[in-house]
Amino acid sequence: MTEMLLGLMQNEFPLTLNHIRRRMQSANHGSEVVTLMPDGSAQRISHAALTERVDRLARALGELGVEQGDRVASFAWNNQRHLELYFAVPCTGAVLHTLNIRLFAEQLTYIVNHAEDRVIFVDDSLVGVLEKLAPSFEGVAHYVVMGDGDTGSLPNALRYEDLLEQAGGGPFDYPELDERQAAALCYTSGTTGNPKGVLYSHRSISLHSSATLMSDGNGLSRNDRVLAVVPMFHANAWGLPYGAALAGSDLILPDRFLGAEPLAKLIASERPSLMGCVPTIFQDLLRYADEHPDVDLSSLTNAACGGSAVPKQLMKDFEERHGVRIYQAWGMTETSPVATYSRPREDGEHDAQHWEDRAKQGRPLPWVELRLVGDEGEEVPWDGESTGEIQVRGPWIASSYFRDPDPEKFDDGWLRTGDIASVDEKAYVQITDRSKDVIKSGGEWISSVELENELMSHPSVIEAAVIAKPDERWAERPLCCVVLSGEGAASAEELVEHLSSRVAKWWLPDEFAFIGEIPKTSVGKFDKKVLRGQLAEGRLEGRVKV
Ligand code: ADP
Repeated sequence: MTEMLLGLMQNEFPLTLNHIRRRMQSANHGSEVVTLMPDGSAQRISHAALTERVDRLARALGELGVEQGDRVASFAWNNQRHLELYFAVPCTGAVLHTLNIRLFAEQLTYIVNHAEDRVIFVDDSLVGVLEKLAPSFEGVAHYVVMGDGDTGSLPNALRYEDLLEQAGGGPFDYPELDERQAAALCYTSGTTGNPKGVLYSHRSISLHSSATLMSDGNGLSRNDRVLAVVPMFHANAWGLPYGAALAGSDLILPDRFLGAEPLAKLIASERPSLMGCVPTIFQDLLRYADEHPDVDLSSLTNAACGGSAVPKQLMKDFEERHGVRIYQAWGMTETSPVATYSRPREDGEHDAQHWEDRAKQGRPLPWVELRLVGDEGEEVPWDGESTGEIQVRGPWIASSYFRDPDPEKFDDGWLRTGDIASVDEKAYVQITDRSKDVIKSGGEWISSVELENELMSHPSVIEAAVIAKPDERWAERPLCCVVLSGEGAASAEELVEHLSSRVAKWWLPDEFAFIGEIPKTSVGKFDKKVLRGQLAEGRLEGRVKV
């Protein structure tokens, strides 16, 4: 065999977060990080000054006995200190475990103990939640409270600012890291079974961050001011904080103030150019903006939305009424999370085809490979009609879970996502369902996602979640759980009429449940598991047959 001829480039230069940290320190002149404070004011710091605090924190971690590979947890909102942890922990070789503050108590106990977290950094506003759980944590040696608030009953609580003060200033001597080393840990929200740990590496985060700068993705640049509403405890806030640091964009963090009113005020005063959040927050913001005509969203040109299907009507309303272009992305914790992004070609008018493409989940980002696999393991063609499970592979896709291999989820180097979709000839993915949410009626699939999307395009429908209802004749039929803008704002018959020109006849529902609110998961998605449970136990209210 002939010997491999190696390229003569700096192949050993590691793709680590230390590079991004160094850029913040020396290359991002004029860039800032802004945090919304409880009194409505904004706390500002330059990228360079933030890295000085990161150096202090890195030193403090050493003094707490944190070693390479140790898990250090955060229990925090989107704010400056959380961002400091995003850099200090991985840059010293330890692993930042971002705890989802909205998980159920038992799940939090499970993940803290499963990850063997040694230190937990907690926002003072969240001490009340964490202190109740602290006795169930097995290996936590230190709690560090961020902010001046009460430390509650947390054992041996330390103060973040004291640690930084004691650590002293000056540059920190960061270790040389291997790009394959673990950098961050994030557990899935565990809608079925125990949460699973996704262990990101320096390399996977570095490459995913670069993808947030691609113009067919978020396209972050130095000209952007990025408002990250998606939580920093949820899949690294979709890569926005690291991406902004790499690009030199300003980063705006809303802390715990996620209501439409504080967000609208923040947008008006800080003038972000791009914002990232789930559809429910955009829905709230749109309603607020409609009710308050003086709201100024004019700085926002782009927005990234995902986590669940983004209703076409929501995108249209934002664009037509406020000039904000919402682009849809798809992914999951296991895919870092962004894997596809929907930015149709800009060739003139936004016609029906444009909107059809926008409403799809998008094309795979460069470096992400995607295939559809049918029930028999066969590959499904990209014809825009045939559906199969999405499988993906690439440098920022999980290859296994942390200490819980779950081989069922991985197929010979591909991640089995559990999402059912079609892909068209232009490579646009369209999710029809999660495999656990599919509705099979008379042997044929009905897409709950599409029904929801069409229902939410009705002006009187605020939210819609469609679940399968057992049926003697058809095996399953769709049951549409709907939140109306006001009591009786639309009748079941009117909604069926609305759907009849939009979906196949046999998809038309014969039952609705008019409810006050759709239950949501810890990351703000419709929790259909709860609705199915209520249906099974006969507790689902407001049911109306058509
Ligand atoms: P969990 O699996 O705990 O809900 P994730 O946040 O990782 O947590 O969720 C990933 C799932 O969210 C995907 O598998 C998919 O079902 C859904 N999802 C994400 N983005 C979209 C989107 N744009 N359209 C439809 N579904 C989406």
